[in-house]
Amino acid sequence: MILPPATLGMLGGGQLGRFFVSTAHEMGYKVWVLDPDPHSPAGLIADRHLVAAYDDYTALDDFAGGCAAVTTEFENVPATTLDYLAKFIPVHPSASAVAVCQNRIAEKTFLAENGLPHGPFAVIRCEENLRDIDGALFPAILKVARFGYDGKGQARVANRDEALHAFHQFGGESCVLEKMLSLDSEVSVVLARDESGVVRSFPAGENRHRHGILDVTITPARVGPVLTKLAREAAERIAGQLGYVGTLGVEFFICGGQLYVNEMAPRPHNSGHHTIDACVTSQYEQQVKALCGLPLGEARAHSAAVMVNLLGELWYDEAGDYREPDWSLLQAVPNLRLHLYAKHHARPGRKMGHFTVIGDDAAKVLDTAMHARAAIG
Ligand code: ADP
Ligand code: MG
Repeated sequence: MILPPATLGMLGGGQLGRFFVSTAHEMGYKVWVLDPDPHSPAGLIADRHLVAAYDDYTALDDFAGGCAAVTTEFENVPATTLDYLAKFIPVHPSASAVAVCQNRIAEKTFLAENGLPHGPFAVIRCEENLRDIDGALFPAILKVARFGYDGKGQARVANRDEALHAFHQFGGESCVLEKMLSLDSEVSVVLARDESGVVRSFPAGENRHRHGILDVTITPARVGPVLTKLAREAAERIAGQLGYVGTLGVEFFICGGQLYVNEMAPRPHNSGHHTIDACVTSQYEQQVKALCGLPLGEARAHSAAVMVNLLGELWYDEAGDYREPDWSLLQAVPNLRLHLYAKHHARPGRKMGHFTVIGDDAAKVLDTAMHARAAIG
């Protein structure tokens, strides 16, 4: 077991890393963050922020020398970086698990090989692949295999010509082409798994997206016990097959009453923010515990919760002028907890913060959260 006051290493300095840092601090640990952005939200509160690229080996040597173990909050850290660090200190999740989750081709192949339910797709590495595919895949979404997030690197395409055009726009990078599914709803399961294989799954969340970005998560998900159980079992199987250690997020589509795995995130997940305020143990606490070899906490929710993301557009008034939103409107709501990430600049579409409303009555919680969202704009 790695015990306080040991120093933990975090690759990536976004909001997920920031919650990890503050949680680890509460638990008595120190944290070093490695992120190239000097303004990164986690770097601002870390005990040390190494402002360096993820493949800067001088910085990685320094990092490995000062940390007892390393984890990540960002799936695009090169797997080679995780492999390199693992020569010196424990790294969780492993490079091999992250490598599967950071490449849509590897991810879909993993799902297919392990008999996990997924939607129809084709791997597109060159124009020829697009000419050869089954026309029944259209309408479809072309997604670059690497570095996509929040709907970026994705194009909705009605037919082969549009797909060819989008493929060129993406610079001919390897992609997956997914059949556009008519979604009943989307759910996610966030879980933690320790080195001995113990898994604790948080209650499934129901996710609503706007423009490809997560907007609202409702927990517990209102999809009935059968789909909830199937989602949980699939997520736990994925974690087992990956030999995963740490906090993992698995996104699902529900389409025609069937469950399909959409994608996996090898880190805490945006839809797991509610665990801070509504669960016995948060997803960040579990990440610390799994990393340090401590027994995982109980994942039970003590409250129903609705989480609402606050995106950068809130910082612009009707005339397009930049201003701070009027937080007093949210602070006036009982059982609402506001979390702001201290990001340097609000850009439209950028995740700047979120709030979570908790309570015993799920319908009332949703109503309160929607009113609060309408009030803030
Ligand atoms: P990201 O890495 O940006 O989260 P996703 O693949 O999860 O990428 O896509 C973002 C959102 O776009 C999904 O949560 C879903 O709402 C929508 N979407 C993605 N793929 C499909 C699909 N094949 N059919 C229908 N909707 C989709
Ligand atoms: Mg997603």
